[in-house]
Amino acid sequence: MLNTTNNNQPIKILQLELLSWFENAKRNLPFRQTKDPYSIWISEIMAQQTQIDTLIPYYNHFISLFPNVAALAEASEDEVIKAWEGLGYYSRARNLHQAAKRIVSEYGGIFPKQFAQLIKLPGIGPYTGGAIASIAFNEKVSAVDGNVLRVISRYCNSFDDIGEAKTKKKVTQWVETILPDAAGDFNEALMDLGAVICSPQSPKCLICPIRLGCQSFAFGTTDQIPVKKKKQKQLTKKMEVGIVKQNGAFFFVRRLESGLLSGMWSFPIIEVTEGSGTDIKKKLRSYFPELSDPVLIGQSRHVFSHIIWEMSVYGFDLGNMVCETAAIPYHPNPSESSESQTRSTQFKALSDIDDLTLPIAFSKLLVLLTDF
Ligand code: SF4
Repeated sequence: MLNTTNNNQPIKILQLELLSWFENAKRNLPFRQTKDPYSIWISEIMAQQTQIDTLIPYYNHFISLFPNVAALAEASEDEVIKAWEGLGYYSRARNLHQAAKRIVSEYGGIFPKQFAQLIKLPGIGPYTGGAIASIAFNEKVSAVDGNVLRVISRYCNSFDDIGEAKTKKKVTQWVETILPDAAGDFNEALMDLGAVICSPQSPKCLICPIRLGCQSFAFGTTDQIPVKKKKQKQLTKKMEVGIVKQNGAFFFVRRLESGLLSGMWSFPIIEVTEGSGTDIKKKLRSYFPELSDPVLIGQSRHVFSHIIWEMSVYGFDLGNMVCETAAIPYHPNPSESSESQTRSTQFKALSDIDDLTLPIAFSKLLVLLTDF
């Protein structure tokens, strides 16, 4: 990192030129024209997983349903998850909901102003806490996301691995030592510069407002920085999905309250542990003894952040057979047979499926059902 102690010229360039560029270049986004901590919070959580341009309609929709922290706290979890549909990472929506309830119960519905208070709320880490505290309340704290890590690594010609926590900590501390009084603007300016000028591939150095102080530009290393060592490969799992149809409606099961896609609705699914048989039939048979032979109706693949599901989708048509539909106990693994693992189940017609919080991994299978 650059030395910040002795009137360093590159530091002055960074502080002055960046802010003056930002005044004119500030992106015209609905959540950038406000100092409202609630709007900043929602947009920052959404931006952790989605490109800014893509998230705008999701943001507008979410804000129209829950315009303030009290409205979000009053909503049911299902309503919040539903409003989040399409964005993925549903634990973030749950954390938003939990944090809103805490703000109402602990702070009387008034958004806490200090970084130290914010990072105690569910789902608010140092980056989001720093963004809210600095942008909404101008507290002198940094907000280091991937864009900022890249800009600062290049500006300081640092070859540290940005995938390592210690690098992020070092950059965070360094930015804090050079934060000007307009800390919120400075943080936003760094994020925007990373998004529109100092891009991962082919940074636009010739039009960059801080080029004169950038050490990576000076040493010709912009194509080597930031350094990011390869992450471990994602784990691929073979899965079987069971589509049970009865009277034109399909069988859904609610997932456990913890783990992947927790609390959401899904088709019955299990990991294939041995051979290539139809293990899903064995599982479903205990609940539907008259189950027909399965028909393979398609294959699908879904990539999560750390695992990949390769899904074989099997259809079972119960015809007009009448089954109990309410709360049929469902245990996907024999070891999960305790009462506490019993899950809600229901049959739903395709026309009513919008009522369910169905993750993308399963909603993308709906296209297979039209001919089944
Ligand atoms: S000069 Fe180039 S590498 Fe340096 S901060 Fe600007 S865009 Fe990034």
